[in-house]
Amino acid sequence: LEQNIEKLSGYLKRFKETGILNRIAGEDYAGGSGTFETTSPVDKSVICHVAQGTADDIDAAAKSAAAAFPAWRDMPATERRKILLNVAAAIEERAEEIALCECWDTGQTLRFMSKAALRGAENFRYFADQVVQARDGQHLQSPTLMNITTRKPIGPVGVITPWNTPFMLSTWKIAPALAAGCTVVHKPAEASPLTARLLVEIAEDAGLPPGVLNTVNGFGEEAGKALTEHKAIKAIAFVGESRTGSIITKQGADTLKRMHLELGGKNPVIVFADADLERALDAVIFMIYSINGERCTSSSRLLVQDSIRTEFEAKLVERVNNIKVGHPLDPATEVGPLVTQEHFYKVTSYFDIARDDGATIAAGGVTVGEEGYFVRPTLFTNATNDMRIAQEEIFGPVLTSIPFSTEEEALQLANDTDYGLTGYLWTNDLTRALRFTDSLEAGMIWVNSENVRHLPTPFGGVKSSGIGRDGGDWSFEFYMEQKHVGFAT
Ligand code: NAD
Repeated sequence: LEQNIEKLSGYLKRFKETGILNRIAGEDYAGGSGTFETTSPVDKSVICHVAQGTADDIDAAAKSAAAAFPAWRDMPATERRKILLNVAAAIEERAEEIALCECWDTGQTLRFMSKAALRGAENFRYFADQVVQARDGQHLQSPTLMNITTRKPIGPVGVITPWNTPFMLSTWKIAPALAAGCTVVHKPAEASPLTARLLVEIAEDAGLPPGVLNTVNGFGEEAGKALTEHKAIKAIAFVGESRTGSIITKQGADTLKRMHLELGGKNPVIVFADADLERALDAVIFMIYSINGERCTSSSRLLVQDSIRTEFEAKLVERVNNIKVGHPLDPATEVGPLVTQEHFYKVTSYFDIARDDGATIAAGGVTVGEEGYFVRPTLFTNATNDMRIAQEEIFGPVLTSIPFSTEEEALQLANDTDYGLTGYLWTNDLTRALRFTDSLEAGMIWVNSENVRHLPTPFGGVKSSGIGRDGGDWSFEFYMEQKHVGFAT
């Protein structure tokens, strides 16, 4: 821990000296609205000042992205691929710095963020390798026409990201956009701006031409809003809350913005009595208490079959009570502090809501220390699916357990939510698994597995969890336009 803290203070020095500036066309700029402070959730200390971007800053960034677009679009695919592979390698070289800064800025733990930084490199590498095929179209012969389809990058795009795992999520959006041949204006979350700054620096150092990626910091209602409304920006890739997704869609309506929305979730993990219960237990723990539970794909609703409920919940309580909460830079820490004071108040408010609604707090339900935004991992039992703790996205290390008796009831409970991002099913009955997954309302389902991301597969949600898909060729469907040309034969 001491070593990591020392390394971190080395990495933070430059942020303390200059603050975080906006990056537009390869140059640093102060924000038009001055600065705001970013603080660490570990001890509430100020990390540094951050440029507070305005509509004018967004305008400058959008113009920069528009100016850089033709050359980036027309760059031979092999050359663009090479630059993106260089970015991947450069991320790997600075993975430690990224991970330490991310932990300090967000409260996420090093054990997960060191992997998340490398996942960022993987995202660049994967999409770099897709560059050459991205524009491939089809030839569709008809009796009178030779029809050719091609794909073109849509133009400069806006990327708006949230504060949970901000580095990985930024690369998840920016890498495919750049691979498609789009240029980007990135508006990172105000609560965690450090690693977005590292990303733009790393990318430029690795050879990304100035203006291809521009970063404007600031608040959603100011800089974010201006980005969604800017005429030169052709599409918005957004990751964040469902409510914000709806606001952004309205803001983009006047300019007919193409929108891709990756939003919230209240994802069920359904454990049937016939499952491998030890593996299910591990996965249930991992999918809500890793990454501080601040994870859109977390399984925050446990649906557990009556016959195994008592035993399963008892084992859960024992395991949850043993989870190590502590300093995020301590490699042994499993759960760090929640990202901001506001979010800490939101998550802890559900302890009272659970009690008032008649649920039992079987584990946790308390805060830890005074210094930062720490909470004990929490398990609610004796809950019903109509309670707020079962319907609302708490977005912390908080699990709500609900019993069911039959498969029909499990399915009804699983689907009884506004959200539909992921679902996790634990059963050894293959026929049931096929039947259940077919009817479960979710964009992504894992059977007898935790969430394991495979980049070529589609990622995204249904219902209030989002619109659109990322991953593999689906990303290019969003960042590119189809063009059809028919030749008379
Ligand atoms: P948020 O919606 O509050 O903010 C996300 C981003 O939107 C921030 O950069 C913010 O500044 C910006 N923003 C806010 N208002 C805006 C506006 N009016 N116009 C333009 N931009 C605006 O979300 P958050 O609290 O930062 O993140 C947590 C949420 O993100 C959770 O709901 C979580 O489920 C979701 N999330 C979803 C996925 C997914 O893939 N589905 C992944 C990670 C997080």
